[in-house]
Amino acid sequence: MKYPIDLHTHTIASDHAYSTLVECVHEAKNVGLKMFATTDHGPEVSDGPHPWHFNNLKVVPRICEGVAVLRGAEANIVSDGSIDITNEQVKNLDIVLAGFHPNYIPTTVEEHTRLYKKVIQSGLVDVISHPGSARYPSDYEEVLVCAKENNVAIEINSSSDINTRFGSHDNCIEIAKLAKKIGNTISLGSDAHICYYIGNFESVLEILKQADISDDKIINTSPSKVLDFLESRGHKPIVEMRNFFNN
Ligand SMILES: [Zn+2]
Ligand SMILES: [Zn+2]
Repeated sequence: MKYPIDLHTHTIASDHAYSTLVECVHEAKNVGLKMFATTDHGPEVSDGPHPWHFNNLKVVPRICEGVAVLRGAEANIVSDGSIDITNEQVKNLDIVLAGFHPNYIPTTVEEHTRLYKKVIQSGLVDVISHPGSARYPSDYEEVLVCAKENNVAIEINSSSDINTRFGSHDNCIEIAKLAKKIGNTISLGSDAHICYYIGNFESVLEILKQADISDDKIINTSPSKVLDFLESRGHKPIVEMRNFFNN
């Protein structure tokens, strides 16, 4: 499997998703994933989980049935350029994504750009999720340069224009080409809202090819690459996963 890690998935903790975490583990195992991140929405969207969802992720074993499960969140960007996951929660999570969601009513390219940069510079966010979203256009070059400077990964999302965010496809290609030029770290996420889509990166393969992005820029190629990246972002080392994968 070329990309045995999925860094963006949802569970029924977000009301508009349809599988439990255990079902995600089973399907991840079934399709041969080594690792995935469970990243439910922050509480600012009306159907996101209660904040306690994030506080209690510590009960999830590091390795579930042979699959490493990263404790994560997909935070919502709010209008003042903050996110709806607290600093304390960030400290206890393994990975934090952030993106624009319906809690934020689109404004202008300039404002979306400003908010993306503020979130990137906050140090609280590891990955910008679905930056190609047609509803929230930004100055991609400015955002990607800022992400590169701050060691924040840019996501290529395999649900965009397939299951949601229709009209994003060309933006995703433009972003991928810019990421190649700027040298951004790339994170792949299925954004699965049902377990059967977990690890499905079919739709991004063509984008990666068109932009000529090589696997060395993509962290989803091995667990150690993901763990190295998260440690480089200041997250605590996850010894159980290092030991499990023997590196
Ligand atoms: Zn999202
Ligand atoms: Zn998502």
